[in-house]
Formats: sequence, C-alpha cells, structure tokens
Amino acid sequence: MSATRPMPRPGVLDIAPYVPGKSSAPGVAKVFKLSSNETPLGPSPHAIAAYKAVGAHLEDYPDGSASDLREAIGRAFGLDPDRIVCGAGSDDLLNLLARAYLADGDEAIHTTHGFLVYPIATRGAGARPIVAPETDYTADVDAILRAVTSKTKMVFLANPNNPTGTCLSFDEVKRLHRGLPRHVLFVIDAAYAEYVRRNDYESGIELVATSDNVVMTRTFSKIYGLAALRLGWMFGPAHVVDAVNRIRGPFNVNSAAIAAGIAAIEDIAHQEYAREHNTRWLAWLYEEISKLGLKVTPSVANFLLIHFSDTKGRTAKDADAFLTARGLILRYVAAYKLPNALRLSVGTEEANRLVVAALKDFLSQKS
Ligand SMILES: *Cc1c(COP(=O)(O)O)cnc(C)c1O
Repeated sequence: MSATRPMPRPGVLDIAPYVPGKSSAPGVAKVFKLSSNETPLGPSPHAIAAYKAVGAHLEDYPDGSASDLREAIGRAFGLDPDRIVCGAGSDDLLNLLARAYLADGDEAIHTTHGFLVYPIATRGAGARPIVAPETDYTADVDAILRAVTSKTKMVFLANPNNPTGTCLSFDEVKRLHRGLPRHVLFVIDAAYAEYVRRNDYESGIELVATSDNVVMTRTFSKIYGLAALRLGWMFGPAHVVDAVNRIRGPFNVNSAAIAAGIAAIEDIAHQEYAREHNTRWLAWLYEEISKLGLKVTPSVANFLLIHFSDTKGRTAKDADAFLTARGLILRYVAAYKLPNALRLSVGTEEANRLVVAALKDFLSQKS
C-alpha cells in the first residue's frame, strides 16, 4: 500500500504529546506557579549578568563544543571535561541517547510514574517503552530487572524521580546496575541531585566513573534556575560521549546558556542559599499538609506529591480548581498515572503559606 502523503516513522504518532504545567490562572491578580519544579529564588545574579552581556554579540555562533562550560562543570564536580556533553536541556541529551542507542523493535525500560520524556524519546527512536511497576511510589530494582528481555537496550531511572520525589539509595542503584546485561545502557537522570540531603544517595558520578554502560544526566533548569535557557549536561564513558557528539546538533547549546551556565555553576553561595531554602520549606510543607489529613509522599527533591480522596468534591481535580482560583497553580499529574494527586513545587515563603491555608479551606468546605 502506498501512502498518499508523507508518514512519520512507526511509533511517532503513538506519542502522547508532552503537556507542560499550567502557568496562568484566568482572572486572578497574583499567580504563583508551583507546577514545574522551578526554583522560587531565580538564578544567580552573576548568571543574569553573564546572560545579558551575550546580547552584545548575537551575530556570532556559539562555541560548538561548549569547552568553557564543560571545563567549569569539570572543576565544580571533579570530572574530566572530555567525558561531558552539554545539551539544550537534559531533554536534548535524553533524546540523543535514545536516538544513538535504540533502533526499531528495541525496548527501553522506565518505571510506572517515571518522567514522561522517557517514553517520548523511546518512541521517537522507533523503540518500545516498557513500564516496570513501582513499590510505594519508588522505583523497584527487582521489578526493573524482571522487565529486562533480550530486546532491552536502555534503562531510564530518574533519581530522584519526578513526580513522586522518591529516590533509590546508592546501594540499590548499584544492585540494579549489577543485574543489567553489560550491553544495556543505564541512564541515571539526576535532575534534582542538588536538593538531596540523604547521605546514602549518590547522583551517578561514581557509577559512571567505574563502568562502561552508565550515563548520568543533569540540568541547569532546577536548582540553578535557568530553565528558560535550556541547558543540561551528561557525564558518560568516552565511547558514549563519542557517539552522542556525532549526532547532536553542532551548535545545540546557545551562547547565552553557556555564559549563564558557567556563572551559575561557579556561584556556590547561591546554590547553598537555594538548597537551604528548599530543605527548610520542603519539611515545613510536608508536615503542615500531612497535619491537614492529606497523604503526602516523602520527598527528597523540591516538590511534593499530595494525594486526595475519591469523594466527590474532595478529589485532586476539585483541589486543583480551588487552588487555581486563588492563583496557586499546582501540577495535575494524571498523565503520570496519578489521577488523584497534585504535585506541588516548593515556592517562596509567601506561596508555601498560601498553599497550606488554601488546602485547609478546601478541606473544610461543606460538600
Ligand atoms: C525537570 C526535569 C529534567 C530537566 O529537564 P531539562 O530539559 O533539563 O529542563 C530532567 N529530568 C527530570 C526527571 C525532570 O523532572
């Protein structure tokens, strides 16, 4: 049968388009966007200044290898810059890894409530996403290993995971790695690593450094506050770095992102400030929202998953409408197979207090 118009490759039209968090509440004067895990504190002032300075030279192509940025990242984390690739957000890198390592008929595993970019990247590369069940909203190493077949080529693990906020200990991550065949690429997405305070956690650097089939991705979109500029990086074995460099766009990271990224990663004080703010308010929100009688999944990241009841008038959808009317925008996470939960990003003190007050009012409504 010959098609009457161009057809995308198999899998592309099976992709459910990614729907970003809402950012507006019609008719409300002051809006607090707590739906996309952005930092409420903004980027380092040095990053803003570096970004602005680039405006004087918009006619020049960026440095296609982002050398200065890779060196700055290398200095900050003690890594060989040659083993780093930068991308237009970690999304870019996750898609490049899928394109480089997956072919038609291959399988890539992610977990039930895993980040939605994984099935998109997998299908976009013509492969099949395989979902491994979670236990208590947490990745389950044994379930992932049980999902491995002869067709498995990649495993995606967000650690910590979004939208659940849970993470695996380094021992569990190592156990997962030990159980995988050596030809399977294990991608550890550590977008929220900077926020984690648990001392049994490791972002992935050590495992990448000691194995041949592990890649860690990181982002400037979260604690560094540069989501608008689209900047991420990966650390991997030399052979994976080589493959990704061959297929990435030659100028996939723009000059403003490079300049701001360097300034951001060198501003340790701003990162510390953002981490302290998060640690304090994450704990406060967990406690106050739990006290209202709502179940909250314990989180190590900069957001919390709040579970609602099935009772009419008390559901996540009802709460979402109630909060939005007050200018408090949370994330409805039905697309993550969590139809009765909302994800709340840690905000400013003002926003956090307003959310707790609003949830209290929501729960005390007569239905
Ligand atoms: C926010 C987030 C990212 C970051 O994506 P960027 O493309 O770098 O903005 C990556 N992984 C997870 C799990 C996230 O929640």
